[in-house]
Amino acid sequence: MKISAIVLAGGKGSRMNSDIPKQYLLLCGKPVLYYALQAFQHSSVDEIILVVGNGRIKDVSEEEYCKKELIDNYHFNKVKHVVLGGSERYDSVMNGLKEVQNKTDYILIHDGARPCVTVELIERCILDVVDYNACVAAVPVKDTIKMVDSKGYAVSTPDRKTLWQIQTPQCFECNLIKKAYHNMMVDTEKSNITDDAMVVENYSGNKVKMTHSSYKNIKITTPEDLQIAKSFLFSE
Ligand code: C5P
Repeated sequence: MKISAIVLAGGKGSRMNSDIPKQYLLLCGKPVLYYALQAFQHSSVDEIILVVGNGRIKDVSEEEYCKKELIDNYHFNKVKHVVLGGSERYDSVMNGLKEVQNKTDYILIHDGARPCVTVELIERCILDVVDYNACVAAVPVKDTIKMVDSKGYAVSTPDRKTLWQIQTPQCFECNLIKKAYHNMMVDTEKSNITDDAMVVENYSGNKVKMTHSSYKNIKITTPEDLQIAKSFLFSE
């Protein structure tokens, strides 16, 4: 069984209010992206495809920075390709999918801005994707969630027992995800696509299974998330 991982680092991270994208900010002396690459390097994944943006870090392109400061420096020899992303997250995934080796059976897609992912979670996701063909790391929501109108008034309150917070890795049988992405890309009326499970839900007949994850697997989005991730990464 061959498994590929696509690690996404092609975003600009505008909600971080920082000159450099959030995945390159330092977290305990290492770029945020280091931690996800480290977890995948030590997992049973066979190859990693890293998707980067077209910006510059310390006067070099993101691609050069990743090759030198991350891949070479930390010997991440499972990273087989570094490719340019696109304007939306799904464009970046699409560019990553094109590089996946032919013999791959399953593909794991992960946000490079989620540094607290563990080898144990990656292996749990792999077990589930073999059983269900499509699964995503997720946790039940703790708070009450409301639908709100454009003026900020509550419209409805979905039953909390039916709500899950979706994370990454998002994992799929190779042909299933490639076909679903192809169908989505040719759809001129697609709605706002924010994750890969949505692509499979909307453009394939396959159901997506929730893989129980950890509340620690946060995505770095705003400045306080760096402090939270630091406490999670170094508390054990
Ligand atoms: O913007 P958001 O936090 O949802 O991004 C999730 C992940 O997708 C991040 O790791 C980000 O770098 C990546 N991304 C990407 N290409 C984009 C937008 C986001 O690779 N165009």
